[in-house]
Amino acid sequence: MENPVFDYIICGGGGSGLLLLYALSEDPFFSKKDILLIEKESKNTNDRTWSFWEKKEGAFEGLLEKKWDTANFLSSSVSLDFELAPYQYKMLRSKGFYKTCHEKIERQKNIQYLSAKITSITNEGITSKVSTNKGFFSSKNVFNSVFDPTALYNQKKYPVLKQHFIGWFIKTKSEQFDPNKILFMDFNIEQKKETRFLYVLPLDSKNALVEYTLFSANLLEKKEYEEGIQSYLKNQGIIEYEIKEKEQGNIPMSSFPFDQFNTSSLLNIGTAGGWTKASTGFTFMNTTRNVSKVVSFLKTGKPLNRFNIKNRFSFYDLLFLDVLFKYNSQGSKLFERMFEKNTPLTIFRFLDEKTSFVEELRIASSFSLRQISWFLMALIRRLF
Ligand SMILES: Cc1cc2nc3c(=O)[nH]c(=O)nc-3n(C[C@H](O)[C@H](O)[C@H](O)COP(=O)(O)OP(=O)(O)OC[C@H]3O[C@@H](n4cnc5c(N)ncnc54)[C@H](O)[C@@H]3O)c2cc1C
Repeated sequence: MENPVFDYIICGGGGSGLLLLYALSEDPFFSKKDILLIEKESKNTNDRTWSFWEKKEGAFEGLLEKKWDTANFLSSSVSLDFELAPYQYKMLRSKGFYKTCHEKIERQKNIQYLSAKITSITNEGITSKVSTNKGFFSSKNVFNSVFDPTALYNQKKYPVLKQHFIGWFIKTKSEQFDPNKILFMDFNIEQKKETRFLYVLPLDSKNALVEYTLFSANLLEKKEYEEGIQSYLKNQGIIEYEIKEKEQGNIPMSSFPFDQFNTSSLLNIGTAGGWTKASTGFTFMNTTRNVSKVVSFLKTGKPLNRFNIKNRFSFYDLLFLDVLFKYNSQGSKLFERMFEKNTPLTIFRFLDEKTSFVEELRIASSFSLRQISWFLMALIRRLF
């Protein structure tokens, strides 16, 4: 029996799959294309909270839980309050995002949603074949967001750190938070030879998401993240509170070339495509930007493996990761130096890959001589 053939198949209906689907459904060029989305879960809960910075209104502005105009960065020698303008920091919870995307799928006849488990994706000449527990499907354009970390962890060339955390949504008895200001990073906690910080997003004066976060190689016992949150709250004098919800994350940070698995008919997207910013773990905004590039690219009709997102910033990320991996206990000092010597706006623009080469040299020169020597060693190791 022949496999049903689609113009586009999207494997996985999480963050990147749905962002891509939404973008395709908004563009009239794709209104007559047959699109299939395959997802194994019902995706109707707040299984994650996406935060990101953005200049203008985004496609999901109406769904935002909250946005902020000011932020705070803290370390042992830096205490910085800053305006985020022209950016705003935004929080989007997944439940509303999934619902909006699912409703869009229901409204558009050219899009089908299949609730099934994908078992393999294989190359069959000019098409890719997606096998599921509910049948086989083929397309010349398959997008895969189902992340298989095996190849990433079976190699040594590219170090792998993780952005890992537990976050509590808490409600305090008395007013404790400035609702207009996020705590972007607070390194004033015991580093335990790693890179550890607190991250706080206040929803109002009594409600906040408080996360104990690490950029490091190994996960902790659940208890250690939670004790980190408890001890932080205690130090802030926040004793009486209720935990309303909890969330947990483990996001790979690596410059591993995930694009080597792309073929003419298969493009890996989201975390599976290496769309996580290697130096920070931020993925949502990177994915939004890459999705818009993919949409333009598809109109050219070129094979999918010609899609390229690598640039000089990928190389900076590679060096930063090499250094952060080797000197993990010094991460707080690296971030401290960046925030001390540059305007936060420059840092956000740099992370958004919008800075000029001269600005990048200035950022590089903000590190101490010792830190610069680490980057130079990493550069030499990568070049020779
Ligand atoms: C708790 C949490 C919080 C995060 N917060 C942020 C943040 O604040 N900012 C930010 O930029 N990034 C954040 N991230 C990182 C990143 O944005 C998310 O992981 C994002 O969801 C990645 O999108 P994705 O499509 O790659 O993966 P996912 O969203 O995980 O989507 C993959 C989908 O594939 C489905 N799937 C898996 N296996 C199969 C199979 N065999 N068959 C069918 N379907 C399958 C899964 O059910 C899932 O829906 C966070 C991650 C987590 C886990």
